[in-house]
Amino acid sequence: MHQTIAGRTKEQWFSSHPLLERIVAGEEVFWANPETVTAATALSQLDIQAADVFDAAERLRRFAPYIRTVFPQTEPDGGIIESPLRAIPSMQRALSRERDTAFPGRLLLKCDSELPISGSIKARGGIYEVLKHAEHLALEHGLLSRSDEYARLSEPRFSDFFSRYRIAVGSTGNLGLSIGIMGATLGFQVTVHMSADAKAWKKELLRAKGVRVVEYEDDYGRAVAEGRSQAATDPGCHFVDDENSRDLFLGYAVAGERLKRQFAEQGITVDADHPLLAYLPCGVGGGPGGVAFGLKLAFGDHVHCFFAEPTHAPAMLLGLYTKEYDRVSVQDFGLDNRTAADGLAVGRASGFVARRMGPLLDGAYTVDDTTMLRDLARLWQTEALFLEPSALAGMAGPHRVVEAPEYLARHGLRDVLDQATHLVWGTGGSMVPEGERRELLPENDIEKFQNCSLDHGGLGN
Ligand SMILES: *Cc1c(COP(=O)(O)O)cnc(C)c1O
Repeated sequence: MHQTIAGRTKEQWFSSHPLLERIVAGEEVFWANPETVTAATALSQLDIQAADVFDAAERLRRFAPYIRTVFPQTEPDGGIIESPLRAIPSMQRALSRERDTAFPGRLLLKCDSELPISGSIKARGGIYEVLKHAEHLALEHGLLSRSDEYARLSEPRFSDFFSRYRIAVGSTGNLGLSIGIMGATLGFQVTVHMSADAKAWKKELLRAKGVRVVEYEDDYGRAVAEGRSQAATDPGCHFVDDENSRDLFLGYAVAGERLKRQFAEQGITVDADHPLLAYLPCGVGGGPGGVAFGLKLAFGDHVHCFFAEPTHAPAMLLGLYTKEYDRVSVQDFGLDNRTAADGLAVGRASGFVARRMGPLLDGAYTVDDTTMLRDLARLWQTEALFLEPSALAGMAGPHRVVEAPEYLARHGLRDVLDQATHLVWGTGGSMVPEGERRELLPENDIEKFQNCSLDHGGLGN
């Protein structure tokens, strides 16, 4: 008896897709996507357009006065939920020492760990989807018009109205935090279905906000499936479907235009002679997929986007490489989906995202937990910045690409690498409690907590 995976035996897969053997063995790999076409061609073939992202950005602008009212920490940015961009030269030197080679170009960190309200990349897509749903309901019931001052959404009559509706989501943790905090603030009844990987502090925080948390022994896929089926029987319930949501994707994609403005303000050029290489930690794919889409819209072929996944959970890499998308899981290939990078502990990629990344994404790679945890400590030691383990998957990226001669040659990058910007997307971390941070850092670094303030985002909001 041969067990098959999407109709083929493992041996057949290995012979048609040789890199699979190393992926399945849990090795760190780099994969350059052979299907990539120019950004213009890829974007013209997609069913999501620049206008859709523009519409999402406009919606977030309409909500800014409301966000500013209910989350005063967003006051400095006028109610726009955005994160800082930082150069991390000491980390760049440490990475070079660690790997015994320097990489040309300059290393930057996009600090989504410091996004207000929920401290992770999910504050982009997750909050956007909740706001869009709230707007839809309020418009439909004649309580609001698009030209209104949205700050009025903080009046009790709106929370009374929203309290008649329910929102549900399945999550490894951070999406639940974003949906839960935003939904409960508006007045919705929110249920978050949490996978086994979800951290206890995230569940406690949500319960303290009046969110119902349902826990599962199983992984993320199960939490989503359960949430989806329970919500399906309730017409008053909106299910935020992390595996299929266009709105989540659009909320993430707004990051492209925002980053372009930030680059302009900081005098960072992106063009044919100054390529941008972006390294995006990937779980189910919505966050990095939406951001990659936004980056291609903003920078065209001058940006190269790579997804980073744990060696034990390379769901998107398997889906794209085999072109089976969400029809294969890491478990099908005998991997266990266990990783310290809880935000990336996803066994099956989003079909919605995977199918759209085929022609757009430049490549993907896998990273060991030991590499991520070592880089977590390095970043703390060199820059006094704390990120959660998932967010460190990006740090291995610059070396992987620089050491991929065929990729560099194919894209004419060899002669311009000195002027490259390497951008690691720091997807989360500022809300991780101090006790958890201590457990993730080596013993001898803990002292630094006493001497060094955690003012890069701080603990909570
Ligand atoms: C969710 C998450 C990701 C990945 O986003 P997906 O949409 O699941 O691919 C990466 N890092 C952190 C910290 C996350 O919470």
